Amino acid sequence: MSNTKNILMLPGDGIGPEVMNEVKKVIDWSNDKRDTGFKVEEDLVGGACYDAHKVAVTDETMEKAHAADAVLLGAVGGPQYDNDPDMPRNQRPEAGLLRLRKELDLFANLRPALVFDALIDSSSLKPELIRGLDIMIVRELTAGVYFGEPRGEELRDGVRYGLDTQVYNEHEIDRVARVAFELAKKRDNKVTSVEKANVMESGIFWRKIVKEVHDADYSDVELSNMYADNCAMQLVRWPGQFDVIVTDNLFGDLLSDCAAMLTGSLGMLPSASLGTKDPETGKIPSMYEPVHGSAPDIAGQGKANPLATLLSHSMMLRYSFDMIEDADMLDQAVQNVLARGLRTGDIMSDGMTEVSTSGMGDALIEELEKLN
Ligand code: NAD
Repeated sequence: MSNTKNILMLPGDGIGPEVMNEVKKVIDWSNDKRDTGFKVEEDLVGGACYDAHKVAVTDETMEKAHAADAVLLGAVGGPQYDNDPDMPRNQRPEAGLLRLRKELDLFANLRPALVFDALIDSSSLKPELIRGLDIMIVRELTAGVYFGEPRGEELRDGVRYGLDTQVYNEHEIDRVARVAFELAKKRDNKVTSVEKANVMESGIFWRKIVKEVHDADYSDVELSNMYADNCAMQLVRWPGQFDVIVTDNLFGDLLSDCAAMLTGSLGMLPSASLGTKDPETGKIPSMYEPVHGSAPDIAGQGKANPLATLLSHSMMLRYSFDMIEDADMLDQAVQNVLARGLRTGDIMSDGMTEVSTSGMGDALIEELEKLN
């Protein structure tokens, strides 16, 4: 990879552009003060793209996404699109996201569940259960029951059936297992592989392939298996037992939302979606985005919490550019602004100081300045 790091920024709809503005400030600061060499190109996605081009993402933007070193996305969607009967289904705002994920083959979705000390009271669980919590959920994103064939509705002997198919091949499990083992090696060295091998054939197969990958290349990482229903229970009973959880598309969808809520607020949750590393260039196709949506109820009011998007940017530094020191510094700056008692409305509590979206971004820059 050359020294210049090309980022394609897709702010999207609703609060997307507002939270992305704060990331731009951080990128400008780091180019200026830490010589990070980021080059940012901005483009449209979702409803904003539909308004301009009648598609959720254009072919030109897709080309830029393939060429970029990483994609950073805000959020897509809004009531004007949800309620538009004339909008073709395959051009709805989410179709832009799905096309990016599919064509970049982003098969591993990383969803950290991190509890910040300053926000410990935002969780519905007791503080002693979640203090210092740091779980990484790796969800398989491009296969399984959301994509398996046959799917749809069919008639069998005069009776209507609705069907989806849970199916995985060995390569799809192998590659996502490797992502989980690699992550664990840089963390607490523990992977919990989650399926329902007690009742699903594909679950037995999932468990078998994960074990094969483990025994062949990662026997130094601690591996355990857990049924998905038990995992949901354990996440609220004793979340501290987990380090990295790897699971399929459907269970990952449910468990990552469950784990996310241990941390209290949607405005604090980042994510990364990664593809296969190019062995020659070392580039990993990747897209980083906050977990929250476009929050139309607060869009344009300066109320959005930009921290989920800033933490997504930190994941980009870590996983796409191996800039561990810069990522740690940004994570620490987030801790510091929270410790100063600054809060956007969504995480506001008694005795704290409410700040706007840009107020939070400015405070973050101040903290970065001190840490640098
Ligand atoms: P949402 O995440 O947009 O909002 C849920 C609630 O959380 C709202 O009250 C909102 O104000 C609040 N919230 C969310 N993010 C926040 C932030 N950063 N700071 C402060 N408060 C925040 O979910 P929704 O309301 O179900 O969906 C709104 C639109 O977003 C819909 O069109 C939906 O399809 C879309 N959506 C997009 C994505 C995505 O782009 N990845 C994800 C989920 C929903």
